[in-house]
Amino acid sequence: MPVYRRAVPIITPFVEAVPSDSNKRMCCGKAELSVLIAGAIVNISNTELELWLREATSLPFEHIVKKIEKGWGHVHFRTYDDASKFFHEMKERNFTGPNNCVIKFSASMYFKTRKLINYCITETESSTLPSDTNNPPPSDMNNQIPPPSETNNQIPPPSETNNQIPPPPSETNNQIPPPPSETNNQILAPPSETNNQISDKTQYVIYENNEGFYIIKIYTPGVQRKEQVQIEVSYDDRSITITAESSMIIGFNDCTIIENNIQTRFRVDIIFPRMINTDHPVRVDVEHGITTAMFNIKSNKRKIQII
Ligand SMILES: [Zn+2]
Repeated sequence: MPVYRRAVPIITPFVEAVPSDSNKRMCCGKAELSVLIAGAIVNISNTELELWLREATSLPFEHIVKKIEKGWGHVHFRTYDDASKFFHEMKERNFTGPNNCVIKFSASMYFKTRKLINYCITETESSTLPSDTNNPPPSDMNNQIPPPSETNNQIPPPSETNNQIPPPPSETNNQIPPPPSETNNQILAPPSETNNQISDKTQYVIYENNEGFYIIKIYTPGVQRKEQVQIEVSYDDRSITITAESSMIIGFNDCTIIENNIQTRFRVDIIFPRMINTDHPVRVDVEHGITTAMFNIKSNKRKIQII
């Protein structure tokens, strides 16, 4: 005799991506099961970061994957739901990690398309679900599918092949870069935080102009030529490191230095809210102790083929 399960109210309609009986690390290799961790974490090991993160949050995560020499890595999660909860809880905050380093969490990207992960809104209102009596599902199979009204919040992110579909309007804000007024909230290590670091006192300000450029002004006294400035772009064209070294000579005649706290090396690590166009040259100007760099923002607009 066939046994039909009764329709039960859907409390957690999210379908876990990982079977519970799996021993393998299913988190590795799935972008939507990760959150980007970045900051002054070069030479800090995964173990150190994991120990710190377990203290910093009670939210569950599987492990951290970062190359020791990199300033960024990924926190991995067992489920998309865990990743989403973590992302919404931790994003846009500055954390003080091991060795007083500044750590920030932001959205990962799909490997191929480089689109930002659209983390789900994790709070679901079960009371808004239509009742079963009003809309009886025709078969048992359909009971497992969330009602259309909540579909956007509940289903796992589309697979790589579906990434081309634009996000639904209600979740648009998660995917589209913030308006200029929010720009500073998104950027790693604002100057006030950076000042707390012993070896990193570099002061800077970031602007976005109306012509598609990020402009960074860095206080670099003693730097006189742009040849003294270096810029590195890493990870997904959002993270940059600007370093500069001043040519100021600290020694003075035959004098002995009693105390010296003049900064001669400058460094800023930034994660832009949007990708920059690395095909566009970066304009650098050095004047009156201020280094200015202009980065072209990658356009969101792409041509869609019409058939
Ligand atoms: Zn993993």
